[in-house]
Amino acid sequence: MTILVVEDEPTIASFIEKGLKLEGFAIQTVTDGETALDMIESNDYDLVILDLMLPKMSGEEVITSVREQHITTPILVLTAKTMVDDKVTALDNGADDYLTKPFSFEELLARIRALTRRGVVLEPNVLKVGEIELNPATREVKRSGQLLTLTKKEYAIIELLMRNPDRVCTRNMIGEHVWGFEFDMMSNVIDVHIARLRRKVDKGFNPKLIRTIRDVGYRLQK
Ligand code: CA
Repeated sequence: MTILVVEDEPTIASFIEKGLKLEGFAIQTVTDGETALDMIESNDYDLVILDLMLPKMSGEEVITSVREQHITTPILVLTAKTMVDDKVTALDNGADDYLTKPFSFEELLARIRALTRRGVVLEPNVLKVGEIELNPATREVKRSGQLLTLTKKEYAIIELLMRNPDRVCTRNMIGEHVWGFEFDMMSNVIDVHIARLRRKVDKGFNPKLIRTIRDVGYRLQK
């Protein structure tokens, strides 16, 4: 994830740059509006953090020009506390969000997460519990990188267990989630399926991850 920081005040620029680098972002910093526009036009940034009061070309002008060219890179505007009108104008012109100076690093990070989330929406959220990985998009389940061939019911059970790691899933929960109804207390259908699932998930592996909680249900150990 690469972020362009446009800020002419060295202390603020270095505060943002240092913090974001520690968070694992790649950062480029420029100090005037004209250079910023050049950089945005020729690079594909995940986000631009843009001060409004800048030498050579104002932040507003940068936003207007960027949006006129249909460049959709998210822009987070930094404004001084008194400049209420500025931030309204900035949003009207096509900025995505603003942050009023002075701001805390946590605030900045929260805005960045919200603005860049869109970009990663298409990536499926792979569930991970211990050595087990489940990809909801492909419905693939792996343990230690090894693909497990599961039936639909087994997949539904492991998914439920993985969404509740270290918590007991009762037979009722499993029945409702996987079959859509509660089983008679005496039914052993769930246990039969769990036994088959266990053979695929735990056989040949250590530690054993699917634990039986007697008379209650099952638990997936982290
Ligand atoms: Ca400034």
